[in-house]
Amino acid sequence: MSLELLLHQLRASDDWKEDAACRGMDTDLFYPELGDPTAEARKTCVHCPVQAQCRRAGMGEVYGIWGNTSPEERRLPRRQAGRKVTTYRLPPLNGLVEYLAADGDEA
Ligand code: SF4
Repeated sequence: MSLELLLHQLRASDDWKEDAACRGMDTDLFYPELGDPTAEARKTCVHCPVQAQCRRAGMGEVYGIWGNTSPEERRLPRRQAGRKVTTYRLPPLNGLVEYLAADGDEA
């Protein structure tokens, strides 16, 4: 992959941020301290035209409000997306061995 193509893809992947409803707002609202209210940030997210893109982009983020989700709300879907339960039958044991095959790692 050429450097130009890579730079183009990186820029294109961030284009949605230009339409973000939170653009220009205080970022502290979206990165609250533990126990701080998140209502103001979420109120903005609800009407944001790029909420889906933001949520997708924030799926790997362990801090902040992304696409109207908290870190806790993203944890389970992240685990479900990153790990698959795979079942194998092993001839010598003639039994089932289940294990989690992690595609990614949980932070
Ligand atoms: S969904 Fe919320 S955090 Fe994401 S870009 Fe929109 S307003 Fe900002």
